Amino acid sequence: MADLIYQPITQLAAALDAKQISAVELTQAVIARTKAVNGRLNAFNSFDEADALAQAGASDARRAAGQGRGALDGIPVGLKDVIAVQGQPLTASSRMLAKFVSPYDATVTQQLKRAGAVLWGRLNCDEFAMGSSTENSAFGPAVNPWDLTRVPGGSSGGSAAALAAGTTVATLGSDTGGSIRQPAAFCGLVGLKPTYGLVSRFGLVAFASSLDQIGPFARTVEDAAIVLGAIAGHDERDSTSYRATIPNYRAELGGRRGPWKLGIPKEYFAAGLDPEIGAAVERAIAFYRSQGCEVKPVSLPHTQYCLDTYYIIATAEASSNLARYDGIRYGHRAAQASDLVDLYARSRAEGFGAEVKRRIILGTYVLSSGYYDAYYLRAQKVRTLIREDFLRAYQEVDALLTPTSPIPAFKIGEKSDPLAMYLCDIYTIGVNLAGLPALSVPCGFTSGGLPIGMQLIGQPFNESGLLAIAQAYERAHDWHTRHPSL
Ligand code: GLN
Repeated sequence: MADLIYQPITQLAAALDAKQISAVELTQAVIARTKAVNGRLNAFNSFDEADALAQAGASDARRAAGQGRGALDGIPVGLKDVIAVQGQPLTASSRMLAKFVSPYDATVTQQLKRAGAVLWGRLNCDEFAMGSSTENSAFGPAVNPWDLTRVPGGSSGGSAAALAAGTTVATLGSDTGGSIRQPAAFCGLVGLKPTYGLVSRFGLVAFASSLDQIGPFARTVEDAAIVLGAIAGHDERDSTSYRATIPNYRAELGGRRGPWKLGIPKEYFAAGLDPEIGAAVERAIAFYRSQGCEVKPVSLPHTQYCLDTYYIIATAEASSNLARYDGIRYGHRAAQASDLVDLYARSRAEGFGAEVKRRIILGTYVLSSGYYDAYYLRAQKVRTLIREDFLRAYQEVDALLTPTSPIPAFKIGEKSDPLAMYLCDIYTIGVNLAGLPALSVPCGFTSGGLPIGMQLIGQPFNESGLLAIAQAYERAHDWHTRHPSL
């Protein structure tokens, strides 16, 4: 099979079923590709060849015995290094956890194992998933395969770079404010943030628990549906997990044809939007119109408060979640300390990077007595207004269409001001505050050859509808079939 490393899951699963390739051959191909390019990409924090080949061998044995487990059986899937895999390192790209080995599997890890996937690699990200470029990784930034001088986005930048470069067939990331969708846009991939509660957070290193969701990066919308189908579902070990029967997302794709009513939020086409991205998204809007979709302008009036609200709630939750790294129970422990408090302080000072410290300080401030009401409580109220904006729009439309990011992949080192970095998430964070599902799908390239993504935002727990709208676009365009030369 030509170009094994760039095939979608659907093609590879068919080839595995037809015995044209074996899972071991496929895994060998991604291992070889990883070794050839990761020195330039820094997308992997670690990988375990022997373990991956053993998983692939087990998959081949299952298929030979007529016990194949479906589309993911034998497919290499990479995990962001914030998702626990028993017996493997789990670093969150932090010095704090640099030597930590996970004693258990995340629920999504168990689900992927059950589906027969070959878990391949621990993927680089911003430290504790805080950032938009992977430059906050303690192990150095991951690099964008489309232009090695640029970032792949973040925080799940390694998950995007690894997939775009053909070193794996699908990946998982986590999305608290855009960390799946923005890197997907920067690297020319499909990236889906599920509705809050659809995918278990058990075994995900917590950043901001009311916003975090795990989701897939994939080459095609159908592949994203396949991975989502494997990881969605109720979990007793996550108290915010949604109780409902999970549809067969892949099967449902075929049945939904539109036309749909699409809303275009005017606040998402404001100053600061790169003109080439604006034009690409306008062409996508014209495409939907040409397919009989009704396209109407809508307003999400509280959009201007999203960034402030997010950076209060996310940092508050982060400061609380990260209190567990005290140098005592696990993680980095300072070598010298005069007493217990000094040990806490030194361990945290040595273990955390600058951005993580900035957020802990901010979060502690907004939760402190005297400021709690003024910041945290008020932010929670604004969050409700932001969610109501979306729900009001959904009385008129099926989904919203926006750019994913105001800018394409930027240069490594270009954004040294934290505020400039925070502004990158302006179109993605409202979705997390509202708990909605959203995806990024490729919709063009800049004149400089950088991928452009558009965002589709759906109604709560209607991932099937969202995927169908994206697929209608994907089927009529070939952006997703292009690959970086590397
Ligand atoms: N870039 C955003 C932040 O730094 C979002 C990160 C994420 O989604 N994990 O918080």
